[in-house]
Amino acid sequence: MFILPQHHHLHQAATIRRHHHHHNHRVYCAITTQIKTRPKLEQVVINTTTLVTPPKIDDPSLKSTWSQRAWVATGCTTVLASLASSVIGSYDSHIWLEPVLSGFIGYLFADLGSGVYHWGIDNYGDASTPVFGSQIDAFQGHHKWPWTITKRQFANNLHALARVITYTVLPIDLILHDQPVTMGFVGIASGCIMFSQQFHAWAHGTKSKLPQVVVALQDAGVLVSRSQHAAHHRQPYNNNYCIVSGVWNRFLDENKVFEALEMLVFFKLGLWPRSWSEPNSDWTEEAEDSPGIYFS
Ligand SMILES: [Zn+2]
Ligand SMILES: [Zn+2]
Repeated sequence: MFILPQHHHLHQAATIRRHHHHHNHRVYCAITTQIKTRPKLEQVVINTTTLVTPPKIDDPSLKSTWSQRAWVATGCTTVLASLASSVIGSYDSHIWLEPVLSGFIGYLFADLGSGVYHWGIDNYGDASTPVFGSQIDAFQGHHKWPWTITKRQFANNLHALARVITYTVLPIDLILHDQPVTMGFVGIASGCIMFSQQFHAWAHGTKSKLPQVVVALQDAGVLVSRSQHAAHHRQPYNNNYCIVSGVWNRFLDENKVFEALEMLVFFKLGLWPRSWSEPNSDWTEEAEDSPGIYFS
């Protein structure tokens, strides 16, 4: 069973013990309790150092490091290897329609996947959650200071997903390289997932400052639009999670798919999603220090 890692401060241990005290009629495993102790601001301020102040425009935390660039390079290589396997295999076996169709399904799948993942890290866990903690923390920071994503350098924004793609897709490339239809799906889906953070950053851009081709693709619905994603950053903060094309957003929101998943998670695991809480400092955007960058 997971117990708090040793580097956590006493404050956090104290918070959790208090929580145990209040709810000592129930038994949770430690990780569940940790996830449930989120919403209060003072806890966030005490527990995590990264969420206290927004990064400044030229903050080093927004710049790419060489290791981040290396991960983006391996991620891109992985995606290109998948696409190359698909093209070469299709050429050899004279099939074109199937790999193109499977690539298109990969594009649709990536948008859905981005939505489910984004919903998960927006609603559950915190900075101390194993594996996903840094992503959860980053997305919480993004809700407070959405405009900073436009100030991040390319690899700084993409490296986390590039790393995941490298670990998961590279083995698939090696095993299934002779299956052009599958590789078409894998290549397009993994490429769109890796670049979803770039599409997300563009969704926060100002029309006049974005490349014209990006604006055209956003307006055509190929990439997630600025207006659709702006709705994600407004009350009630529980919709428009998809950040590749956004093509799934309407269907998922109208059919309350995430609400159904939240009910399922609550009744099966007892976890309370952040979106059920009153809009609080976890979600609301702080006053912006560089007006005009966001929502325009
Ligand atoms: Zn979000
Ligand atoms: Zn956003």
